[in-house]
Amino acid sequence: MRLIRKSDTSLALALVAGAIIIFERPLRLLLDAADAVQRRYDIDLVPGLIILVSALGFHLYRKRAVARQAAQQAATDIINERLRSGELERLVAFGAALSAVNDLRGVRVVFSRFMPAFVRGREVWLLTRISDEWEAVVRQSPTDESRDQAALERAAVAAAEWPARDVARAEGIAIDDDLCFPLWMGDAAIGVVGVRIVPPFAASERRGIGAAVALVAGAVRNLQLLAQARETSLRDQQTGCFNRAYAVESLGTELQRAKRNGRPLSVLMFDIDRFKHTNDEHGHLAGDAIIAAVAGQCVQTLRASDIKCRWGGDEFLVILPDTPLAGAAHAGGSLTREVAALRLPTRSGVVAPTISVGVAVAEAGEEDPMALVARADEALYKAKNGGRNRFVVAAPIRAVS
Ligand code: GH3
Ligand code: MG
Repeated sequence: MRLIRKSDTSLALALVAGAIIIFERPLRLLLDAADAVQRRYDIDLVPGLIILVSALGFHLYRKRAVARQAAQQAATDIINERLRSGELERLVAFGAALSAVNDLRGVRVVFSRFMPAFVRGREVWLLTRISDEWEAVVRQSPTDESRDQAALERAAVAAAEWPARDVARAEGIAIDDDLCFPLWMGDAAIGVVGVRIVPPFAASERRGIGAAVALVAGAVRNLQLLAQARETSLRDQQTGCFNRAYAVESLGTELQRAKRNGRPLSVLMFDIDRFKHTNDEHGHLAGDAIIAAVAGQCVQTLRASDIKCRWGGDEFLVILPDTPLAGAAHAGGSLTREVAALRLPTRSGVVAPTISVGVAVAEAGEEDPMALVARADEALYKAKNGGRNRFVVAAPIRAVS
């Protein structure tokens, strides 16, 4: 605490003047005594004392300056510490919110809520990548200015291919107008977060954003792994088609959708002809390859939107959304012809497989997947009984009854 402030200067001067007047005589006596000592011993006592007092005064002044500086530094450290602990709290809350999301929509909501605090109001975006397809998950801009996705994708691709990955991870890479932070899964970038470089960043801000992006990377990575695991569990390893459980679930969902939208829905059920015989003649390994080749032909012949499933053994179910009976019959015919045109080499000769196909259409408002499958199955057996290598269309229920 300071004893004398600027406003007290006149009082201080008065005190000094008073002290000089009061102590003038003792002071003079002291100076005379010092003078006597100087003369007696032939020394320069007064100049020496003056130098010592000046040095002491300067030393004390320096110490005070250093102490003031240290106090200022401590105050700055406290402010920085508060900022850091605030940022740490935000990171913990961000991480907790991200760990609770189970789809990209959830990531979008949490990202939009927490990220503005890390980027301090700058424009920020998040693109994710699945097999070279970039998808804009978030685009958040404080202004109305909107850049086209192609510009963001160009920045994202450049960031994803950036060679110095550790730097990119910690502090981002400046690409055109954005500071880009790739999200890594192993060696591959599964997404990129970009922040507009206006206003410019302090190094600590860049590190803070880098830490927040690392949390986003973890969440997106987990979602992609989950999706991969789910996809694997739904697929038949041998053919790549969906499995029977998925077929039933998916047919139920598609029937509901068709009922809601009033759109047609058909199915094909097909089975390889005399496959026991093929196995006996060429062996089970060749048989496996033939099943995979027939499934491959099915994928090639039919639309990508058709849901191809292995029902079991050499039997397949294909769900044809948005397809009326005539379209399904057309698809069944094409598939029968194109499988019959296959020539598949094995160690014991070339195999020319054929299939029999049953085609059925869902009735308006029909909901039971197994009833529809049963009609397709019945038509399939008619095709078998009719001589195989053909398709049969199940008569619509109303026409039958
Ligand atoms: P059909 O024309 O009446 O269908 O005669 P089929 O001999 O094909 O008779 P079915 O469809 O009832 O028999 C299917 C056979 O396919 C039974 C089984 O030995 C064989 N099979 C089922 N799954 C596999 C598989 O994954 N690999 C191999 N190699 N054979 C399989
Ligand atoms: Mg068969």
